[in-house]
Amino acid sequence: MEINAQTRLCILIGNPVKHSVSPQIHNSAFQALGLNYVYLAFRVIDLEGAVRGIKALGIRGASVTIPYKEKIIPLLDELDDLAQKIGAVNTIVNEGGKLIGYNTDGLAVYQSLCAYGFEPKDKKIILLGAGGASRAIAFVLAQKLGSGEMIIFNRTFERAKNLAQEIKAKLKANVRAMSLDDALLAQEIKTAKILINATSLGMTPEVEKTPIPKNLLHSDLCVFDIVYNPAKTRLLSEAEKIGAKIIAGIEMLVRQAGEQFRLWTGKPAPLELMFEKGRSALEKITKQDLTS
Ligand code: NAP
Repeated sequence: MEINAQTRLCILIGNPVKHSVSPQIHNSAFQALGLNYVYLAFRVIDLEGAVRGIKALGIRGASVTIPYKEKIIPLLDELDDLAQKIGAVNTIVNEGGKLIGYNTDGLAVYQSLCAYGFEPKDKKIILLGAGGASRAIAFVLAQKLGSGEMIIFNRTFERAKNLAQEIKAKLKANVRAMSLDDALLAQEIKTAKILINATSLGMTPEVEKTPIPKNLLHSDLCVFDIVYNPAKTRLLSEAEKIGAKIIAGIEMLVRQAGEQFRLWTGKPAPLELMFEKGRSALEKITKQDLTS
């Protein structure tokens, strides 16, 4: 696709952004569908200026990453209902000068679970972590629980407790909070079907870390680690060895981008290609990390 005077721009705003693989994922999708769009990453220091720039330049949309997912909210014109509940935005759509905020992170986890045959309805889910990613996941899964339940475990218990209370107040779902403690995990995991790691434990460079001892895992579990670097974390390797089903962090990464693509272009995302590009871009980053 030739870049010309009609090319529409989508951007990433965050800080840092230099290791992001979103440009490879989105640009490959635009090209595959013959869409006259490009995607570029911007390391942003002046957030207000960047948001004014999106309007002033007619930029079609933006991905929003750390540290701006919450800070951007007061700068937008409208919020989608889910983003409002979560209190964080990872996607902006510019509709004729009106900036609308969405959050596609939690939906991506729900879609991944369904794609692997683990529809959350009526299941017991253990969610590790109560940070930004966990919030987005918890709000979406709580809406899909049916008669199931979700327990949020976090190192800082207060954060898990506040999140569970907020979800209960907003969605009336069966959600509890616990401290990230092996004895408590051991009690609860026996009857759980889905375990999601949304802590940063196990992420490069601390790849030897894991949020749960391997002897607590069982083969009736689906273990989803949202950490995507390394591609297979210690948690996933240990879960795979004992016969549990595993879902890697790339699933969330690509599917949240797929939803952004749909919001910006109105077309379904070419997910297979986005997975392929995402995987190869992450492999390159891992090699760079190892050599630098
Ligand atoms: P965050 O807001 O900083 O939250 C970090 C979470 O990890 C908190 O719950 C924190 O617990 C916990 N944690 C950190 N160090 C810990 C330790 N040593 N022991 C126990 N718990 C610890 O980060 P985030 O944005 O939610 O991201 C979390 C992870 O998800 C990161 O690895 C990120 O790369 C990954 N992620 C992946 C995707 C994807 O698309 N696959 C998307 C977003 C994020 P406390 O509350 O006690 O500090």
